[in-house]
Amino acid sequence: SKDDVKGFFIRNAFVLLTVAAVIIGIILGFALRPYKMSYREVKFFSFPGELLMRMLQMLVLPLLVSSLITGMAALDSRASGKMGMRAVVYYTTTTVIAVIIGIVMVLIIHPGKGSKEEFTKQQKIEQVSPADAFLDLIRNMFPPNLIEACTKQFKTQYAKRVVQVTMTVNDSIFTLNDSRVLTREEMIPVPGSVNGVNALGLVVFSICFGLIIGSMREQGQPLKDFFDCLNEAIMRLVAIIMWYAPIGILFLIAGKIVEMDDITSMGGQLGMYTITVICGLLIHAIIVLPTLYFLVTRKNPFVFIGGILQALITALGTSSSSATLPITFKCLEENNKVDKRVTRFVLPVGATINMDGTALYEALAAIFIAQVNDYDLNFGQILTISITATAASIGAAGIPQAGLVTMVIVLTSVGLPTDDITLIIAVDWFLDRLRTTTNVLGDSIGAGIVEHLSRHELQKKDPEFGNSVVEE
Ligand code: ASP
Repeated sequence: SKDDVKGFFIRNAFVLLTVAAVIIGIILGFALRPYKMSYREVKFFSFPGELLMRMLQMLVLPLLVSSLITGMAALDSRASGKMGMRAVVYYTTTTVIAVIIGIVMVLIIHPGKGSKEEFTKQQKIEQVSPADAFLDLIRNMFPPNLIEACTKQFKTQYAKRVVQVTMTVNDSIFTLNDSRVLTREEMIPVPGSVNGVNALGLVVFSICFGLIIGSMREQGQPLKDFFDCLNEAIMRLVAIIMWYAPIGILFLIAGKIVEMDDITSMGGQLGMYTITVICGLLIHAIIVLPTLYFLVTRKNPFVFIGGILQALITALGTSSSSATLPITFKCLEENNKVDKRVTRFVLPVGATINMDGTALYEALAAIFIAQVNDYDLNFGQILTISITATAASIGAAGIPQAGLVTMVIVLTSVGLPTDDITLIIAVDWFLDRLRTTTNVLGDSIGAGIVEHLSRHELQKKDPEFGNSVVEE
Protein backbone atom coordinates (compact mmCIF):
# COMPACT_ATOMS: atom_id res chain seq x y z
CA SER A 1 0.00 0.00 0.00
CA LYS A 2 0.95 3.64 -0.17
CA ASP A 3 1.88 3.75 3.50
CA ASP A 4 4.20 0.79 3.09
CA VAL A 5 5.98 2.49 0.24
CA LYS A 6 6.27 5.68 2.26
CA GLY A 7 7.53 3.76 5.26
CA PHE A 8 10.15 2.04 3.15
CA PHE A 9 11.43 5.36 1.84
CA ILE A 10 11.57 6.92 5.28
CA ARG A 11 13.35 3.96 6.82
CA ASN A 12 15.88 3.82 4.03
CA ALA A 13 16.16 7.51 3.39
CA PHE A 14 19.88 7.69 4.14
CA VAL A 15 20.83 4.77 2.00
CA LEU A 16 18.66 5.88 -0.90
CA LEU A 17 19.97 9.43 -0.72
CA THR A 18 23.54 8.20 -0.57
CA VAL A 19 23.13 5.86 -3.52
CA ALA A 20 21.46 8.67 -5.46
CA ALA A 21 24.37 10.94 -4.55
CA VAL A 22 26.88 8.49 -6.00
CA ILE A 23 24.92 8.13 -9.23
CA ILE A 24 24.36 11.86 -9.64
CA GLY A 25 27.99 12.52 -8.73
CA ILE A 26 29.23 10.18 -11.45
CA ILE A 27 26.88 11.62 -14.09
CA LEU A 28 27.68 15.19 -13.13
CA GLY A 29 31.40 14.48 -13.11
CA PHE A 30 31.40 13.02 -16.60
CA ALA A 31 29.07 15.72 -17.89
CA LEU A 32 31.47 18.43 -16.71
CA ARG A 33 34.68 16.80 -17.93
CA PRO A 34 34.55 18.29 -21.43
CA TYR A 35 34.74 21.76 -19.88
CA LYS A 36 38.30 21.11 -18.69
CA MET A 37 38.02 23.05 -15.46
CA SER A 38 41.09 24.73 -14.07
CA TYR A 39 42.61 23.53 -10.84
CA ARG A 40 40.99 26.39 -8.94
CA GLU A 41 37.59 25.72 -10.46
CA VAL A 42 37.79 22.05 -9.49
CA LYS A 43 38.63 23.10 -5.93
CA PHE A 44 35.60 25.40 -5.82
CA PHE A 45 33.42 22.74 -7.30
CA SER A 46 34.48 20.06 -4.81
CA PHE A 47 34.18 22.39 -1.85
CA PRO A 48 31.03 20.75 -0.39
CA GLY A 49 32.93 17.46 -0.46
CA GLU A 50 35.94 18.95 1.27
CA LEU A 51 33.62 20.17 4.01
CA LEU A 52 32.28 16.67 4.58
CA MET A 53 35.82 15.33 4.94
CA ARG A 54 36.61 18.02 7.47
CA MET A 55 33.46 17.42 9.50
CA LEU A 56 34.07 13.71 9.71
CA GLN A 57 37.71 14.15 10.61
CA MET A 58 36.72 16.60 13.30
CA LEU A 59 34.87 13.82 15.09
CA VAL A 60 37.34 11.00 14.63
CA LEU A 61 39.67 11.85 17.46
CA PRO A 62 37.16 12.33 20.31
CA LEU A 63 35.17 9.39 19.00
CA LEU A 64 38.16 7.09 18.89
CA VAL A 65 39.32 7.97 22.39
CA SER A 66 35.92 8.03 24.09
CA SER A 67 34.68 4.85 22.48
CA LEU A 68 37.79 2.86 23.32
CA ILE A 69 37.98 4.10 26.90
CA THR A 70 34.32 3.43 27.67
CA GLY A 71 34.37 0.20 25.73
CA MET A 72 37.27 -1.15 27.74
CA ALA A 73 35.99 0.21 31.06
CA ALA A 74 32.67 -1.55 30.55
CA LEU A 75 34.21 -5.00 30.33
CA ASP A 76 35.97 -6.92 33.03
CA SER A 77 39.55 -7.68 32.15
CA ARG A 78 38.84 -11.34 31.38
CA ALA A 79 36.04 -10.51 28.97
CA SER A 80 38.03 -7.81 27.22
CA GLY A 81 41.02 -10.11 27.01
CA LYS A 82 38.93 -12.75 25.30
CA MET A 83 37.31 -10.24 23.01
CA GLY A 84 40.70 -8.80 22.17
CA MET A 85 42.02 -12.25 21.30
CA ARG A 86 39.07 -12.91 19.03
CA ALA A 87 39.51 -9.60 17.30
CA VAL A 88 43.21 -10.24 16.78
CA VAL A 89 42.55 -13.72 15.39
CA TYR A 90 39.94 -12.26 13.05
CA TYR A 91 42.22 -9.45 11.89
CA THR A 92 45.10 -11.81 11.26
CA THR A 93 43.06 -14.47 9.47
CA THR A 94 41.30 -12.07 7.13
CA THR A 95 44.45 -10.12 6.37
CA VAL A 96 46.35 -13.30 5.52
CA ILE A 97 43.50 -14.49 3.29
CA ALA A 98 43.46 -11.11 1.58
CA VAL A 99 47.19 -11.25 0.92
CA ILE A 100 46.88 -14.75 -0.51
CA ILE A 101 44.06 -13.67 -2.82
CA GLY A 102 46.15 -10.75 -4.02
CA ILE A 103 49.12 -12.98 -4.75
CA VAL A 104 47.09 -15.68 -6.49
CA MET A 105 45.28 -13.14 -8.66
CA VAL A 106 48.40 -11.39 -9.81
CA LEU A 107 50.15 -14.67 -10.55
CA ILE A 108 47.20 -16.00 -12.54
CA ILE A 109 46.29 -12.89 -14.48
CA HIS A 110 49.91 -11.76 -14.85
CA PRO A 111 49.09 -8.16 -15.69
CA GLY A 112 52.77 -7.19 -15.90
CA LYS A 113 53.66 -9.14 -19.00
CA GLY A 114 55.02 -7.12 -21.87
CA SER A 115 57.85 -4.69 -21.73
CA LYS A 116 58.45 -1.81 -19.44
CA GLU A 117 58.67 0.52 -22.42
CA GLU A 118 55.02 1.31 -21.99
CA PHE A 119 55.90 3.38 -19.01
CA THR A 120 57.70 6.65 -19.13
CA LYS A 121 60.10 8.35 -16.74
CA GLN A 122 60.64 7.39 -13.16
CA GLN A 123 62.05 9.31 -10.27
CA LYS A 124 64.35 8.62 -7.40
CA ILE A 125 62.86 7.53 -4.12
CA GLU A 126 64.62 7.22 -0.83
CA GLN A 127 64.96 3.74 0.62
CA VAL A 128 63.42 2.74 3.90
CA SER A 129 64.55 -0.55 5.38
CA PRO A 130 61.85 -2.88 6.70
CA ALA A 131 63.59 -2.85 10.09
CA ASP A 132 63.36 0.94 10.33
CA ALA A 133 59.75 0.83 9.41
CA PHE A 134 59.01 -1.88 11.93
CA LEU A 135 60.69 -0.01 14.76
CA ASP A 136 58.73 3.08 13.85
CA LEU A 137 55.51 1.13 13.96
CA ILE A 138 56.29 0.24 17.57
CA ARG A 139 57.51 3.74 18.34
CA ASN A 140 54.20 5.07 17.13
CA MET A 141 52.40 2.99 19.71
CA PHE A 142 53.94 5.02 22.50
CA PRO A 143 53.63 8.71 21.77
CA PRO A 144 55.84 10.64 24.18
CA ASN A 145 53.34 13.47 24.31
CA LEU A 146 49.66 12.67 24.23
CA ILE A 147 48.50 16.17 23.45
CA GLU A 148 50.93 16.32 20.60
CA ALA A 149 49.68 12.96 19.36
CA CYS A 150 46.20 14.50 19.15
CA THR A 151 46.97 17.83 17.62
CA LYS A 152 50.23 17.92 15.81
CA GLN A 153 51.60 15.90 13.03
CA PHE A 154 53.45 13.12 14.70
CA LYS A 155 56.54 12.60 12.64
CA THR A 156 58.67 9.62 13.33
CA GLN A 157 61.78 9.04 11.28
CA TYR A 158 59.67 6.95 9.01
CA ALA A 159 57.04 9.59 8.49
CA LYS A 160 59.71 12.09 7.58
CA ARG A 161 61.08 9.79 4.97
CA VAL A 162 57.63 9.04 3.79
CA VAL A 163 57.06 12.69 3.13
CA GLN A 164 60.19 12.75 1.04
CA VAL A 165 59.08 9.65 -0.75
CA THR A 166 55.69 10.96 -1.54
CA MET A 167 56.99 14.25 -2.73
CA THR A 168 59.33 12.68 -5.21
CA VAL A 169 56.72 10.16 -6.15
CA ASN A 170 54.35 12.93 -6.79
CA ASP A 171 56.77 14.92 -8.86
CA SER A 172 55.92 12.32 -11.36
CA ILE A 173 52.23 12.99 -11.04
CA PHE A 174 53.33 16.23 -12.47
CA THR A 175 54.97 14.49 -15.37
CA LEU A 176 52.12 12.08 -15.82
CA ASN A 177 49.62 14.86 -15.84
CA ASP A 178 51.22 17.98 -17.06
CA SER A 179 47.98 19.83 -17.65
CA ARG A 180 48.03 21.31 -14.18
CA VAL A 181 50.51 22.38 -11.54
CA LEU A 182 49.88 20.67 -8.22
CA THR A 183 50.33 22.33 -4.87
CA ARG A 184 52.66 20.81 -2.34
CA GLU A 185 49.76 19.84 -0.06
CA GLU A 186 48.18 18.04 -2.89
CA MET A 187 51.34 16.14 -3.67
CA ILE A 188 51.54 14.61 -0.24
CA PRO A 189 48.78 12.06 -0.26
CA VAL A 190 47.42 13.04 3.12
CA PRO A 191 45.31 16.03 2.12
CA GLY A 192 44.28 17.86 5.26
CA SER A 193 43.25 14.58 6.77
CA VAL A 194 43.76 12.88 10.09
CA ASN A 195 47.43 12.86 9.26
CA GLY A 196 47.98 15.09 12.25
CA VAL A 197 46.82 12.34 14.55
CA ASN A 198 48.89 9.42 15.69
CA ALA A 199 45.92 7.06 15.81
CA LEU A 200 47.90 3.99 16.77
CA GLY A 201 49.39 5.69 19.82
CA LEU A 202 46.01 6.95 20.92
CA VAL A 203 44.49 3.51 20.47
CA VAL A 204 47.13 1.90 22.67
CA PHE A 205 46.76 4.59 25.32
CA SER A 206 42.95 4.53 25.32
CA ILE A 207 42.80 0.75 25.65
CA CYS A 208 45.13 0.79 28.66
CA PHE A 209 43.44 3.79 30.21
CA GLY A 210 39.98 2.26 29.78
CA LEU A 211 41.08 -1.01 31.34
CA ILE A 212 42.49 0.83 34.35
CA ILE A 213 39.34 2.89 34.81
CA GLY A 214 37.31 -0.29 34.63
CA SER A 215 39.43 -1.92 37.31
CA MET A 216 38.96 1.05 39.64
CA ARG A 217 35.26 0.30 40.12
CA GLU A 218 33.41 3.15 41.98
CA GLN A 219 36.45 5.32 42.03
CA GLY A 220 36.64 5.20 38.26
CA GLN A 221 32.97 5.98 37.77
CA PRO A 222 33.29 9.76 37.18
CA LEU A 223 35.76 9.23 34.37
CA LYS A 224 33.66 6.46 32.95
CA ASP A 225 30.61 8.72 32.99
CA PHE A 226 32.57 11.55 31.46
CA PHE A 227 33.80 9.55 28.48
CA ASP A 228 30.43 7.84 28.11
CA CYS A 229 28.74 11.19 27.87
CA LEU A 230 31.38 12.49 25.47
CA ASN A 231 30.84 9.47 23.28
CA GLU A 232 27.08 9.92 23.27
CA ALA A 233 27.39 13.60 22.40
CA ILE A 234 29.75 12.89 19.51
CA MET A 235 27.38 10.25 18.16
CA ARG A 236 24.61 12.83 18.16
CA LEU A 237 26.79 15.11 16.11
CA VAL A 238 27.40 12.25 13.74
CA ALA A 239 23.65 11.88 13.32
CA ILE A 240 23.45 15.47 12.13
CA ILE A 241 26.41 15.18 9.79
CA MET A 242 24.85 12.11 8.23
CA TRP A 243 22.20 14.32 6.69
CA TYR A 244 24.89 16.29 4.97
CA ALA A 245 26.87 13.25 3.90
CA PRO A 246 25.06 12.59 0.59
CA ILE A 247 25.76 16.13 -0.61
CA GLY A 248 29.38 15.86 0.38
CA ILE A 249 29.77 12.45 -1.27
CA LEU A 250 28.15 13.73 -4.48
CA PHE A 251 30.72 16.49 -4.81
CA LEU A 252 33.67 14.38 -3.70
CA ILE A 253 32.92 11.90 -6.45
CA ALA A 254 31.98 14.42 -9.13
CA GLY A 255 35.05 16.53 -8.34
CA LYS A 256 37.36 13.54 -8.63
CA ILE A 257 35.87 12.47 -11.94
CA VAL A 258 36.23 15.98 -13.32
CA GLU A 259 39.93 16.15 -12.49
CA MET A 260 41.06 12.58 -13.17
CA ASP A 261 43.45 11.80 -15.98
CA ASP A 262 42.15 10.55 -19.26
CA ILE A 263 41.47 6.87 -18.77
CA THR A 264 41.68 5.96 -22.43
CA SER A 265 45.35 6.87 -22.48
CA MET A 266 46.09 4.24 -19.87
CA GLY A 267 48.63 1.61 -20.91
CA GLY A 268 47.66 -2.00 -21.42
CA GLN A 269 49.59 -3.30 -18.44
CA LEU A 270 48.17 -0.66 -16.16
CA GLY A 271 44.68 -1.47 -17.37
CA MET A 272 45.18 -5.17 -16.69
CA TYR A 273 46.66 -4.32 -13.34
CA THR A 274 43.60 -2.26 -12.41
CA ILE A 275 41.32 -5.12 -13.40
CA THR A 276 43.39 -7.58 -11.37
CA VAL A 277 43.15 -5.41 -8.26
CA ILE A 278 39.41 -4.97 -8.73
CA CYS A 279 38.89 -8.72 -9.10
CA GLY A 280 40.95 -9.46 -6.01
CA LEU A 281 39.12 -6.93 -3.88
CA LEU A 282 35.75 -8.15 -5.14
CA ILE A 283 36.55 -11.76 -4.30
CA HIS A 284 37.56 -10.76 -0.80
CA ALA A 285 34.62 -8.43 -0.22
CA ILE A 286 31.82 -10.32 -1.90
CA ILE A 287 32.84 -13.93 -1.35
CA VAL A 288 35.38 -14.38 1.45
CA LEU A 289 34.16 -11.96 4.11
CA PRO A 290 30.44 -12.74 3.71
CA THR A 291 31.16 -16.50 3.75
CA LEU A 292 33.20 -16.11 6.90
CA TYR A 293 30.40 -14.13 8.51
CA PHE A 294 27.87 -16.75 7.54
CA LEU A 295 30.00 -19.65 8.75
CA VAL A 296 30.49 -18.07 12.15
CA THR A 297 27.10 -16.50 12.82
CA ARG A 298 24.73 -18.45 10.54
CA LYS A 299 23.07 -15.18 9.64
CA ASN A 300 22.59 -13.62 6.23
CA PRO A 301 25.74 -11.60 5.52
CA PHE A 302 24.06 -9.50 2.86
CA VAL A 303 21.46 -8.22 5.27
CA PHE A 304 24.37 -7.19 7.48
CA ILE A 305 26.11 -5.52 4.55
CA GLY A 306 22.87 -3.75 3.62
CA GLY A 307 22.93 -2.15 7.06
CA ILE A 308 26.38 -0.68 6.55
CA LEU A 309 25.88 0.45 2.96
CA GLN A 310 26.15 4.08 3.88
CA ALA A 311 29.49 3.53 5.57
CA LEU A 312 30.76 1.66 2.51
CA ILE A 313 29.72 4.45 0.19
CA THR A 314 31.30 7.01 2.49
CA ALA A 315 34.52 5.02 2.32
CA LEU A 316 34.28 5.08 -1.47
CA GLY A 317 33.76 8.84 -1.41
CA THR A 318 36.40 9.79 1.13
CA SER A 319 39.08 7.09 0.57
CA SER A 320 39.72 7.16 4.28
CA SER A 321 38.67 4.51 6.76
CA SER A 322 39.36 6.91 9.64
CA ALA A 323 37.10 9.60 8.24
CA THR A 324 34.43 6.96 7.66
CA LEU A 325 34.65 5.71 11.25
CA PRO A 326 31.82 7.88 12.65
CA ILE A 327 29.43 6.61 9.97
CA THR A 328 30.57 3.02 10.48
CA PHE A 329 29.72 3.32 14.15
CA LYS A 330 26.29 4.72 13.43
CA CYS A 331 25.43 2.06 10.86
CA LEU A 332 26.58 -0.87 12.96
CA GLU A 333 24.97 0.25 16.19
CA GLU A 334 21.73 1.55 14.77
CA ASN A 335 21.00 -0.54 11.71
CA ASN A 336 22.71 -3.77 12.63
CA LYS A 337 22.23 -3.47 16.38
CA VAL A 338 25.74 -4.60 17.18
CA ASP A 339 26.47 -4.33 20.91
CA LYS A 340 28.18 -1.06 21.74
CA ARG A 341 30.74 -2.76 23.92
CA VAL A 342 31.92 -4.56 20.81
CA THR A 343 31.83 -1.69 18.33
CA ARG A 344 33.58 0.63 20.76
CA PHE A 345 36.48 -1.73 20.93
CA VAL A 346 36.59 -3.43 17.56
CA LEU A 347 35.90 -0.49 15.24
CA PRO A 348 38.56 2.03 16.33
CA VAL A 349 41.20 -0.67 16.51
CA GLY A 350 40.07 -2.12 13.20
CA ALA A 351 40.10 1.24 11.41
CA THR A 352 43.65 1.75 12.61
CA ILE A 353 45.28 -1.63 12.02
CA ASN A 354 42.95 -4.01 10.16
CA MET A 355 43.17 -3.27 6.45
CA ASP A 356 42.39 -6.26 4.28
CA GLY A 357 42.06 -4.24 1.11
CA THR A 358 45.39 -2.53 1.66
CA ALA A 359 47.19 -5.80 2.42
CA LEU A 360 45.78 -7.44 -0.70
CA TYR A 361 46.70 -4.42 -2.74
CA GLU A 362 50.27 -4.12 -1.52
CA ALA A 363 51.15 -7.75 -2.17
CA LEU A 364 49.54 -7.63 -5.59
CA ALA A 365 51.16 -4.36 -6.57
CA ALA A 366 54.62 -5.49 -5.47
CA ILE A 367 54.40 -8.63 -7.59
CA PHE A 368 53.07 -6.59 -10.49
CA ILE A 369 56.13 -4.40 -10.28
CA ALA A 370 58.31 -7.50 -10.28
CA GLN A 371 56.51 -8.77 -13.39
CA VAL A 372 56.95 -5.48 -15.20
CA ASN A 373 60.67 -5.65 -14.45
CA ASP A 374 60.90 -9.27 -15.62
CA TYR A 375 62.10 -10.14 -12.17
CA ASP A 376 61.42 -13.74 -11.20
CA LEU A 377 60.35 -14.10 -7.61
CA ASN A 378 61.05 -17.36 -5.81
CA PHE A 379 58.81 -18.81 -3.13
CA GLY A 380 60.81 -17.27 -0.30
CA GLN A 381 60.47 -13.84 -1.82
CA ILE A 382 56.74 -14.23 -2.27
CA LEU A 383 56.53 -15.23 1.38
CA THR A 384 58.54 -12.15 2.33
CA ILE A 385 56.16 -10.02 0.28
CA SER A 386 53.18 -11.49 2.08
CA ILE A 387 54.68 -10.81 5.49
CA THR A 388 55.78 -7.29 4.72
CA ALA A 389 52.48 -6.53 2.99
CA THR A 390 50.70 -7.51 6.18
CA ALA A 391 52.99 -5.31 8.26
CA ALA A 392 52.62 -2.46 5.78
CA SER A 393 48.84 -2.66 5.99
CA ILE A 394 49.01 -2.47 9.78
CA GLY A 395 51.34 0.49 9.56
CA ALA A 396 49.27 2.34 6.97
CA ALA A 397 47.10 5.05 8.45
CA GLY A 398 43.42 5.11 7.50
CA ILE A 399 43.91 8.10 5.25
CA PRO A 400 43.87 8.55 1.48
CA GLN A 401 46.67 6.73 -0.35
CA ALA A 402 48.55 5.73 2.77
CA GLY A 403 48.95 2.25 1.33
CA LEU A 404 50.94 3.54 -1.59
CA VAL A 405 53.43 5.08 0.78
CA THR A 406 53.94 2.06 3.03
CA MET A 407 54.50 -0.05 -0.07
CA VAL A 408 58.10 1.09 -0.05
CA ILE A 409 58.65 -1.42 2.76
CA VAL A 410 57.29 -4.29 0.69
CA LEU A 411 59.36 -3.42 -2.34
CA THR A 412 62.64 -2.96 -0.50
CA SER A 413 62.19 -6.23 1.37
CA VAL A 414 62.73 -8.16 -1.86
CA GLY A 415 64.99 -5.68 -3.59
CA LEU A 416 62.49 -4.32 -6.08
CA PRO A 417 62.98 -0.77 -7.34
CA THR A 418 60.92 1.57 -5.17
CA ASP A 419 61.02 4.08 -7.98
CA ASP A 420 58.52 1.92 -9.76
CA ILE A 421 55.74 3.02 -7.41
CA THR A 422 55.40 5.80 -9.94
CA LEU A 423 54.18 3.21 -12.45
CA ILE A 424 50.95 2.66 -10.56
CA ILE A 425 50.36 6.10 -9.14
CA ALA A 426 48.11 7.17 -12.00
CA VAL A 427 45.39 4.72 -11.00
CA ASP A 428 45.92 4.79 -7.27
CA TRP A 429 43.29 7.39 -6.46
CA PHE A 430 40.70 4.98 -7.83
CA LEU A 431 42.05 1.73 -6.40
CA ASP A 432 42.50 3.49 -3.06
CA ARG A 433 38.75 4.08 -2.86
CA LEU A 434 38.05 0.44 -3.53
CA ARG A 435 40.53 -0.86 -0.99
CA THR A 436 39.26 1.60 1.62
CA THR A 437 35.74 0.25 1.09
CA THR A 438 37.09 -3.27 1.55
CA ASN A 439 38.88 -2.15 4.71
CA VAL A 440 35.69 -0.72 6.20
CA LEU A 441 33.76 -3.84 5.26
CA GLY A 442 36.40 -5.98 6.96
CA ASP A 443 36.19 -3.95 10.16
CA SER A 444 32.40 -4.08 10.20
CA ILE A 445 32.13 -7.80 9.57
CA GLY A 446 34.77 -8.21 12.27
CA ALA A 447 32.51 -6.42 14.72
CA GLY A 448 29.64 -8.73 13.79
CA ILE A 449 31.75 -11.85 14.18
CA VAL A 450 33.40 -10.79 17.45
CA GLU A 451 29.98 -9.91 18.87
CA HIS A 452 28.66 -13.32 17.99
CA LEU A 453 31.66 -15.12 19.49
CA SER A 454 31.54 -12.98 22.64
CA ARG A 455 27.82 -13.36 23.24
CA HIS A 456 28.26 -15.25 26.52
CA GLU A 457 30.55 -12.69 28.11
CA LEU A 458 28.37 -9.88 26.84
CA GLN A 459 25.28 -11.33 28.42
CA LYS A 460 26.82 -11.52 31.83
CA LYS A 461 28.05 -8.09 32.66
CA ASP A 462 26.69 -4.60 32.77
CA PRO A 463 23.22 -5.16 31.37
CA GLU A 464 22.38 -1.46 31.42
CA PHE A 465 25.31 -0.62 29.18
CA GLY A 466 24.55 -0.35 25.50
CA ASN A 467 21.08 -0.45 24.10
CA SER A 468 21.15 -3.74 22.35
CA VAL A 469 20.30 -7.17 23.56
CA VAL A 470 22.43 -10.04 22.41
CA GLU A 471 20.37 -13.06 21.85
CA GLU A 472 21.56 -16.60 21.85
N1 ASP B 1 43.07 4.79 2.17
C1 ASP B 1 43.11 3.54 2.88
C2 ASP B 1 42.23 3.61 4.10
O1 ASP B 1 41.93 4.65 4.59
C3 ASP B 1 44.48 3.15 3.25
C4 ASP B 1 45.26 2.84 2.02
O2 ASP B 1 45.78 3.76 1.39
O3 ASP B 1 45.34 1.67 1.63
O4 ASP B 1 41.77 2.61 4.58
